[in-house]
Amino acid sequence: MLTARQQHCLRGIGIDVWAERGATSGNNPAAEPVADILSAADLEDIRRIANTGDRPGFPEQSEQPVNLPQSSESDLEKSGLSPVPPAQPPAAVPAVEVPVPAKLDSWDSIIESIHGCTACELAQNCTQKVPGVGNRQADLLIVGEGPGHDEDIRGEPFVGRSGQLLDRMLAAIGIAREQVYITNIVKCRPPSNRDPKQLEAQQCRAFLEAQIEQLAPKVILSVGRVSAHNLLATNLPVGKLIQQMHKLPGTEIPLKVTYHPAYLLRNPSAKAIAWEDLKLLHQLLQ
Ligand code: SF4
Repeated sequence: MLTARQQHCLRGIGIDVWAERGATSGNNPAAEPVADILSAADLEDIRRIANTGDRPGFPEQSEQPVNLPQSSESDLEKSGLSPVPPAQPPAAVPAVEVPVPAKLDSWDSIIESIHGCTACELAQNCTQKVPGVGNRQADLLIVGEGPGHDEDIRGEPFVGRSGQLLDRMLAAIGIAREQVYITNIVKCRPPSNRDPKQLEAQQCRAFLEAQIEQLAPKVILSVGRVSAHNLLATNLPVGKLIQQMHKLPGTEIPLKVTYHPAYLLRNPSAKAIAWEDLKLLHQLLQ
């Protein structure tokens, strides 16, 4: 259980300790106390923010509202966030011809095609392809940028310290890793953990789109700058994108941008904002 001091610290920075309305026992995983799920280090970060006021601020919000699907509009009102239209592609981005794999009409064909893909240079140096992992009937799709060192070795996205933090963040809103589907913008590790090039992301896009079509998620959580920029076709700063609700362009699927766990590990003060994102995500998934 959270101590009175921990609850005071969290509320002191505007974080409501989440508990399911009417829940009285610990049987419901969604009602587990945050302190039992977030690590001592996470809580210490939040406590430090409460003591120092060192909380990152948001930039100005967009003033361009748009109609969202009925089911999520009320959730957004409750959250206090402003829905905005999908961002426009940056003018400097040239269109390129991208070969589309022939058959991506089932999970098996998607995974098989990814494993056999040599469309871009990332295939030359990766240890193995990292197509994605998780529940193929999940309501929540999490999209990161690309495999890092640990993911390249394991063949699974979001492992290592970043993955452990992501797992704890999900657990804090009662979601197990096995309940969601997790993938990346590109399925092969960029060398030296560089950002995927725009052409590489475009060449890999057909796989992600096929995964989204198969999954038909209720909500997409876009994790980090590279993911957000590619999914929303924008180059706006994550700090601006994160305060707004989006839709995946061309669809009605609500899309929430949040900070990458690796960024949160380097910038613990941003965990307070990520916690707000998680609370909104929980509302959208109800
Ligand atoms: Fe193919 Fe994507 Fe890997 Fe490039 S990153 S080789 S497009 S699977």
